Amino acid sequence: MTETHLPRFHGDTILLDIDETVTRSTGRSAGEVTIDALYAVVAQVQGVDVEEAVRLVAARCDPHLESIEPHLGALGLSTRMLWDVVRPMMASCVGVHDDAVDAVRALHARGFRLYPATTNSRFMALLKLSVAGLGDVDGSEHFNDVFGGSEVVAEGKTGPAFYHAVLERTGSRAQQTIHVGDDPQLDALAAQQAGIDQVVLVNRDLEMPWSRADTGAVTVRSLRTLADIVDQPEDG
Ligand SMILES: [Mg+2]
Repeated sequence: MTETHLPRFHGDTILLDIDETVTRSTGRSAGEVTIDALYAVVAQVQGVDVEEAVRLVAARCDPHLESIEPHLGALGLSTRMLWDVVRPMMASCVGVHDDAVDAVRALHARGFRLYPATTNSRFMALLKLSVAGLGDVDGSEHFNDVFGGSEVVAEGKTGPAFYHAVLERTGSRAQQTIHVGDDPQLDALAAQQAGIDQVVLVNRDLEMPWSRADTGAVTVRSLRTLADIVDQPEDG
């Protein structure tokens, strides 16, 4: 059966995936570029060659598996120092979905509480949001808070435990929360398993403007549609 009316979602809180929802990869992985830059900056600050810098970093953390930000101080770096080196490099590896940027601005202006729901570290999430014009090294004026995936649960966004923890961390109620992402498994199923029934997926290759799955998840072709389908409780 074909639905003709756009479904409506109600809530005060919107969780937003970042990768392929707000930004996309356009070249080398932003994470790999950041790790290479980390080695170069550590080498410079410590006066060692890059090989030694790799060893110094490895003694503190595995930057491929965990957030590097908590270890920067011990490596002689500030967050700002790494940011200033890495941020200009992001233009070549991070693309922006303008429909998502418009949606974030519109929803923030309407007073929704916005939080990221991503496996990215806080540093990487802010880098990507900054390319989209939605944040900088200190945070985002459009999001109530920006936190990395492993700050929520150690394993990041891998299942419903992540969403339970995000709801708790942000003081949100599942029934008043709408999750927006692009991955049917991690963004729709896992969120719904955590009690967030209201899920919007974006698929920019969708032929029709929107469709609704048996699970209740709505897929839209453009996130500009989002502003048309979400209401705050007091909106009626
Ligand atoms: Mg994604």
